[in-house]
Amino acid sequence: MTGLILENVEKRYGSACAVKDVNLHLPEGKLVCFLGPSGCGKTTLLRMIAGLETLSGGEIRLDGEDIGHTPAHERNFGMVFQSLALFPHMTVGENIAYPLKLRGVSKADQQARVVELLELIQLQEMIDRPVAKLSGGQRQRVAIARAIASRPKILLLDEPLSALDAKLRESMQVEIRQLQQRLNITTILVTHDQREAMTMADIVVVLGEHRVQQVGTPIEIYRHPANEFVADFIGSGNIFPATALGNGKVGLPGGDALEVPICSSIVVGEKVKMLIRPEDLQLSHPQATAGNRLLGKVTFVRDIGATIETTVECSGVSFTALSTPSQGFGLNIGNPVSVTLPAEACRVLSA
Ligand code: ATP
Repeated sequence: MTGLILENVEKRYGSACAVKDVNLHLPEGKLVCFLGPSGCGKTTLLRMIAGLETLSGGEIRLDGEDIGHTPAHERNFGMVFQSLALFPHMTVGENIAYPLKLRGVSKADQQARVVELLELIQLQEMIDRPVAKLSGGQRQRVAIARAIASRPKILLLDEPLSALDAKLRESMQVEIRQLQQRLNITTILVTHDQREAMTMADIVVVLGEHRVQQVGTPIEIYRHPANEFVADFIGSGNIFPATALGNGKVGLPGGDALEVPICSSIVVGEKVKMLIRPEDLQLSHPQATAGNRLLGKVTFVRDIGATIETTVECSGVSFTALSTPSQGFGLNIGNPVSVTLPAEACRVLSA
């Protein structure tokens, strides 16, 4: 099978397990994000793929070939770290040419490749400038150009944008994605920023507690989180307790019943956790309770520009709803309000 395959990959430091039982297939040409909270094992996993950490167990295969014990320099993977690790005393051109020089590429070919890469990152004018005299974003681009100089099979990026301010970070996210698509290079990006992962990735690998929690497209992960950990980590959500009543209904703590998609794995009487995203809750003038339309009371309202965030107490649950100003009909603290939870937007989360 083509692409990068990880089978039962593990990393232990003494008795502590940093990465447990990772099984992944990363197809060619895709941008994959390893996303998860600090300490969950993202960097360790990336470093094992790079060959910078040994495996305690499992296999890594690239296009069918076992590379789990191949030295890093023989894997031909490009890598950009958070620190970028550029050589400050060298010029832009020298930095980009460095990996080519190490591989014994001729001076003329080095020069031609540097010119080609500078055109790609649009820094043609800066070939002779010391990297110390570049802006943060320009340094970032040089680090990427250096990482792809020797046409690596895979590009590995370990939180490369975390030192940049929010605005530059966003524009670099777009630049990296465009470059990755243009070159069609398999790329793994490590990040703890869920927005970065959701807006850049073809595939998101959510890691938590040292293991893979879910693999999917950004929309799959957001709309169909596999468990409470993923639901909570990705985006904002209302996670609330309920009791299974059977026939596609659950009971809320305050006693109201809610229709939800039928979930065959739960049994009547089981305590479950439910998820509904704030943008899926519909608020309206108070009306009689019917179906999934319940009565609640506004406890907090916050105008955040394009949207209004409202907290509503409803059947023993505190829900957060997002609406647009045009939908805001005098939402004031203490007022009664009708809250509709569309059945198709309610998810039963597995434990
Ligand atoms: P962050 O986002 O903070 O960089 P991460 O998800 O990349 O975190 P890792 O750096 O992979 O997490 O670390 C995973 C776990 O392995 C952590 O508990 C960490 O303390 C541990 N760990 C990492 N490197 C070593 C090491 N060399 N020796 C012992 N434990 C280590």
